[in-house]
Amino acid sequence: MASASDKAVVTRFAPSPTGFLHIGGARTALFNWLFARHHGGKALLRIEDTDRARSTQEAIDAIISGLDWLGLDWDGDTVFQSERGARHVEVAEKLLEAGYAYRCYATAEELEEMRAAQRAAKQPLRYDGRWRHRDASEAPLGAPFVVRLKTPEEGETVIEDAVQGRVTVKNSEIDDYILLRSDGTPTYMLAVVVDDHDMGVTHIIRGDDHLNNAFRQMPVIRAMNEIEGDWDDPIYAHIPLIHGADGAKLSKRHGALGVEAYRDEMGILPEALFNYLLRLGWGYGDKEVIARDEAIELFDLGGVGKSPARFDLKKLQNLNGLYIRESEDVDLAKLVAERIGAEADTGLLEQAMPALKTRAKDINELADGAAFLFKKRPLELTEKASALLDGDARALLAQVSARLQDGIDWTSEVLEANLKAMAEELGLGLGKLAQPLRAALTGQTTSPGIFDVLVLLGKEESLARIDAQAASGSAG
Ligand code: GLU
Repeated sequence: MASASDKAVVTRFAPSPTGFLHIGGARTALFNWLFARHHGGKALLRIEDTDRARSTQEAIDAIISGLDWLGLDWDGDTVFQSERGARHVEVAEKLLEAGYAYRCYATAEELEEMRAAQRAAKQPLRYDGRWRHRDASEAPLGAPFVVRLKTPEEGETVIEDAVQGRVTVKNSEIDDYILLRSDGTPTYMLAVVVDDHDMGVTHIIRGDDHLNNAFRQMPVIRAMNEIEGDWDDPIYAHIPLIHGADGAKLSKRHGALGVEAYRDEMGILPEALFNYLLRLGWGYGDKEVIARDEAIELFDLGGVGKSPARFDLKKLQNLNGLYIRESEDVDLAKLVAERIGAEADTGLLEQAMPALKTRAKDINELADGAAFLFKKRPLELTEKASALLDGDARALLAQVSARLQDGIDWTSEVLEANLKAMAEELGLGLGKLAQPLRAALTGQTTSPGIFDVLVLLGKEESLARIDAQAASGSAG
């Protein structure tokens, strides 16, 4: 028998579209994608939308656009599980025919009684196989039935998990679960196995909350292999879930948001989230900064940790700052312009970017830093900024304005030389001059370097802003 490890790698990401693409799902997607790309195999996308009541088109769109934004592309067509129902039924019927599954006619009341008795006896709540050994002739005529898998009763099932190592479960602990419901529809547990087989998936990389499912899915694979001969065991890699910085399972409170929140609300770059998610639960020595191409080169399952990774927002922001500094100014300018809105001038933003991006940790900070460029006169001052503009400061501004009116070149160097000379003549530190100037030019107390601010605003606008503040002092 050929085993999955002999074949070209095929992975899949199989989200259920019942909500956005959250950080855990994005990481699972990334690991599947990287593993396939590293091995020159295929990465497939399957939308597990069999739960019609909870699956929404909105969630499907959010997942696909989130993956897209992260730069994770998928091979072949996206598979929609809901469209494969007939095939799932076909497999259930093969299992039934070959004696690996059986019809169960137990009624809801009967099963409730069974569970009550198990509860009373402090036994695990599990279908007791009451129809497993009954003859078909005992079936109540025309009564509804479900189809259950006949799982092995003796022995144990062993999974050599690529992350968890060897995991063993006694077969007696695996219940004869339902493959087809009484309305004839297939269950999720069956659908996953059939789809993975039909899509040729060799490696199943997913959250370790699915490890128990693997032991229930395996008997279907083994039974179908007995029947058809080409159902290989996949290689499983169950990756530990993500925890918050406090060690508790990641929740909204910790930042378990959809990736679009990282993009839209937090101003994170996709390259930064990619790098951060990669390092979240996977490591290569103590290397922290690993961009896309290098990630493909280095990624393998051996580097996936066995214990839950902790989500650390600070670390993500630091990486984001790093990727911001490496980004092209024109790209950053576009992102910032989207945030600023109609009054933004992308060309001006691009010019401002070298001065703006030196410290910013996210796109919001860049947009805040750039806001002064597009303010209308008279500028609204922050409280701190207006505190800097007392009477003396306004008189100083009038002097600065007078000095800069002369036909000087409006370049950073010339402006710096002029203001330094002026500070010296007045016996002041440059800061004493720069502070009220910054307040007048930007309405704030923080901004890029003051000479950059003057150059970016240009002579006319700079002098108009300075004069407006100098004048408002003499009037008041
Ligand atoms: N659809 C499942 C989920 O979103 C994943 C199933 C699987 O990977 O086998 O959790």
